[in-house]
Amino acid sequence: GSYARVADKTVDSVCPYCGVGCQLTYHVKDGKIDHVEGKQGPANEGRLCVKGRFGFDYAHSPDRLTRPLIRRADAPKDATNVMRRDWKELFREATWDEALDAAAAGFQKALASTPERGRASPVSGFGSAKGTNEEAYLFQKLIRTAFATHNVDHCTRLCHASSVAALMEGVGSGVVSNPLRDVEHAELIFVIGANPAQNHPVGASWMKNAVKRGAKLVLADPRRTELARHAWKFLGFTPGSDVALLNGMLHVIVTEGLTDAAFVRDRTLDFEQLKAHVADFAPEVVAPVCGIDANTIREVARAFATSKASIILWGMGVSQHSHGTDNARCLIALSMVTGQIGRPGTGLHPLRGQNNVQGASDAGLIPMVFPDYRSVSDAAARAHAEEVWRLSPGTLGAQPGLTVVEIINAAYDRQIRAMLIQGENPAMSDPDAGHAREALARLDHLVVQDIFLTETASLADVVLPATAWPEKTGSVTNTDRCVQIGHKALNAPGEARADAWITEQIARRLGQDWRYDIHADGTASDNPAQGIGAVFEEMRALMPSIAGLSWPRLWREQAVVYPVHDLGDPGQAVVFTDHFPTPTGRARLVPATPTPPAEVPDADYPLVLITGRQLEHWHTGSMTRRASVLDALEPLPSVSLHPTTAAKLGLLAGGQARVRSRRGVVTLSVRVDDGMPLDTAFIPFAYAEAAANLLTNPALDPAAKIAEVKYCAVAIEAVEGA
Ligand code: SF4
Repeated sequence: GSYARVADKTVDSVCPYCGVGCQLTYHVKDGKIDHVEGKQGPANEGRLCVKGRFGFDYAHSPDRLTRPLIRRADAPKDATNVMRRDWKELFREATWDEALDAAAAGFQKALASTPERGRASPVSGFGSAKGTNEEAYLFQKLIRTAFATHNVDHCTRLCHASSVAALMEGVGSGVVSNPLRDVEHAELIFVIGANPAQNHPVGASWMKNAVKRGAKLVLADPRRTELARHAWKFLGFTPGSDVALLNGMLHVIVTEGLTDAAFVRDRTLDFEQLKAHVADFAPEVVAPVCGIDANTIREVARAFATSKASIILWGMGVSQHSHGTDNARCLIALSMVTGQIGRPGTGLHPLRGQNNVQGASDAGLIPMVFPDYRSVSDAAARAHAEEVWRLSPGTLGAQPGLTVVEIINAAYDRQIRAMLIQGENPAMSDPDAGHAREALARLDHLVVQDIFLTETASLADVVLPATAWPEKTGSVTNTDRCVQIGHKALNAPGEARADAWITEQIARRLGQDWRYDIHADGTASDNPAQGIGAVFEEMRALMPSIAGLSWPRLWREQAVVYPVHDLGDPGQAVVFTDHFPTPTGRARLVPATPTPPAEVPDADYPLVLITGRQLEHWHTGSMTRRASVLDALEPLPSVSLHPTTAAKLGLLAGGQARVRSRRGVVTLSVRVDDGMPLDTAFIPFAYAEAAANLLTNPALDPAAKIAEVKYCAVAIEAVEGA
C-alpha cells in the first residue's frame, strides 16, 4: 500500500540484506529515508520481508563513521575487548589525504619487509559480499596487481564454498541451475539445511504459495523451523548425518529402478561407481544414524524421483560442515540420477545468503580464480587478465592464494603483516573468533573501510569511512544470477566516501595507473566510459557470462539474468538444458562416505551447538542492530533449547545461561523451542555481547576450506542468581 506522507523523491534500488534480491523504492524526505516500498522486481513482485521494509535507518545511525581515523599511539590493540565504544578512545581524526597516505605507506612497508610474493606474501585483503559488483571487482584487482598476491577472499568462504567446490567438480559451474521462483513450477520442493522463512523470507513466501497450489514440500533440517508447518514431510535428522540420509535416498532410487536411465546414460559419468557405493546405505541401515525412519526415507526418495519436476534448495546447514562438499555431492547426485535438472521447476539452487555474495564471487573475490571463475593457474586466463589490466606478460602469479581461515592463521603466525578489509567483520564472523581477533591484533598494519566502527575496525590502524548502500549507485547479483542496479538515494554523512573511490585512491598511491575517476560521493551515470560504468565495462570484458550485458543496458533494463551472450540475448533463467559446462559436457557423479563432525559431544562438552541467523538480524549485526525497528523486535542474544533439554540443565525460559566450548564462553538468555532437537543449542551470531563465533570450531572441509560453524560441542549451565 502507499503512505499518506509525500516524499521529496523516490529512488529505485535493491534490498541490501539477503540474496533473494527484492527490488524496492526508497521514499526520501528531508535527506532521509522516510519509508520503503516493494517494487515489481523479478524476484519479489512487490513483496518485502521485515528487513527490507523496516531495516533502513542504520544509514542514519549516529554511530556512522564520518571522518577518516588514525589509531592513537597510546591505544594498544586489545583482542579481548572489541566491543562497540566511542571511537575517540582509540583513534584521532585525520584528513582523507593523511589517512590514505598512511594506509598506502603501511602496505608499502610490509611489502618491503620481505621479497616473498604470491601465497607467502606479507599482505592480503578481505573484500565484501555487501558491496557492489564494481567494488568487489576493483578490490580483487587491487590485491592481485598492487599487492602482487591472490591472497584475497571474502565471506563466500564461510558460506557456500563447499557447495561451489562440489558443483564445479560435478557440473562445471558453481551457479544455480534454476531461479528460486521456479518452486512455482515444481511438483516437489526439497529444502535441506536452510531456514528460508527467516533467512530468505520472500523466497519462502513463493514456496508457501506453491504448496497452496499443490506442490509437495519436503523440509530436511535438524531444527523444525517455521516452514515445517507447510511441509508434506519434515525430516528432522540428527545434526551432521546428512550424507547418510541422502545416501539412503540414493539407495532407494537406484535399487528400485527409479533413475532416469536415458539421462544417466547421455548426460552423466561414473554412475556404476555411485550405484556400487550406495548399495551399502539401505534405509534400515541409515535410519538409526540419521533418526529418520526407513519408510519415510523411502517415501520421500520415491516422490522426489517420480515427480514431474523436483527442485533442491539448500543453505548453510549443508555447506558449513567439515563434510560440506560431500553433502553437496549427494544433492548433485540426487538431481542427476533422477534427471531432475535442465527443465523449469527442477534443478539445484544453493540459496545465496548475502545480497551480493553471488556477484562478489563472479567478480573474482576468491583466491583461486579471476572473474568468471577462470583459474589463476590457467596460463590463458592470466594472459587475458594481464592484457585487460595492461600489465606486462608474466606479472600475475600462477599459485592460488590463501583462503579466509588460512589468511587469519597466517596473520596469527605473523607471515601476513598487513591487511586491507573492505566491509567485512571477521572479528565476529570467523570461527573461533577469539583466535581471529588475536590474529587481527597481531598485524603491523590493518586498514578497514566500513560504515561503522565494527569489532574488526576497533583493531585497525587506519579506518576509512565508507558509504552505505543507499548512498551509491552500483550493481549487485542475486541468488538467481540476476544482475540488478541500485541507485543513490542519499548523501553520505560527513566525509564518508564511496568504497570504489577509496580503492582507486589506494591503488594510485601504490603506483597503479587507474583512471576510472570514480566519484567520491557515490554517484554514477549511464556512461560506460567513465566512473562506475567504466569499471563495469572492464569487468564485462573479462567475463563471458555477462558479455551481452553492457552498462547502458543494465541501466535501462534494471535486471538481467546471465548467461547473456550478446546485447539482444534476453538471458537464460534455466541452464544445463542440454549439456553441462564440463570438458565432456556430462555431469560427474561423486560418491560420498559419511564422516563424523570434527568435534563431537563428550562428557565435558555434552551438547551440540548450531549457529545461524534469525529473521530480524543480519549476520554480524553491524547494520540491523542499528536499525531501530529490527533491534526493538530482537534486542537480546539468546540460546534456544528444547524444553526437555532446558529442564534437564535446570534452565528456565528467560533465565541466563553460560555456554562454553573449548574455545570460548558467552552468557545469554534462554529461549525454549520445541522445534529444537534434544541436547542441541542454537545461537544466532549477530550479537557482539555474546558472540556465537567465540565458541565455534575452525576445523575445515578439506576440499573447500569452509569451517564447521554449524557443529561443535558445548557445555551449558545456569548463571547463579539469574
Ligand atoms: Fe530483503 Fe531478502 Fe527480505 Fe527480500 S527477502 S526484503 S531481499 S531480506
